[in-house]
Amino acid sequence: MSTDTQAPDSGIIVAKLDDLLNWARLSSMWPVSFGIACCAIEMMGAMAATYDLDRYGVFPRASPRQADVIIIAGTVTFKMADRIRLLYEQMPEPKYVISMGSCANCGGPYWQHGYHVVKGVDKIIPVDVYVQGCPPRPEALIGAFLELQKKISTENTINKNVNT
Ligand code: SF4
Repeated sequence: MSTDTQAPDSGIIVAKLDDLLNWARLSSMWPVSFGIACCAIEMMGAMAATYDLDRYGVFPRASPRQADVIIIAGTVTFKMADRIRLLYEQMPEPKYVISMGSCANCGGPYWQHGYHVVKGVDKIIPVDVYVQGCPPRPEALIGAFLELQKKISTENTINKNVNT
């Protein structure tokens, strides 16, 4: 978090409200507990003890109404597409989407002959960060959260909310 003014020895820090809000949000990203296919196993690995994604303030939530991030980890079939959009719409603003793995990014191994697969989750909801791989390793998902933190740190939350 950048501070505009810091009075020496006063214990007072002056900062822009946007910076404070962004700092709070990027330090506590809560993804929906949700996975679709094999990529979700790597996502679970990232949350477990070895990689410990919790140390970045990332805590999975069981309800979309308490979450601000959704990780699309797996193959998005047409049957699943409506459920994904419903989950996304139930999340409060501001909200973010991580597309994890080739299937979610573009259809993966099913891009040519998978008549039942959506060729990229960005055809149904907006994506903020793409993670490549089949499957991506947990480190790659951690990298995606770091990218998301960078994005959130530059957002103009107050004006965005005033204009919408
Ligand atoms: S990208 Fe690969 S590992 Fe991930 S869901 Fe598709 S087939 Fe499975």
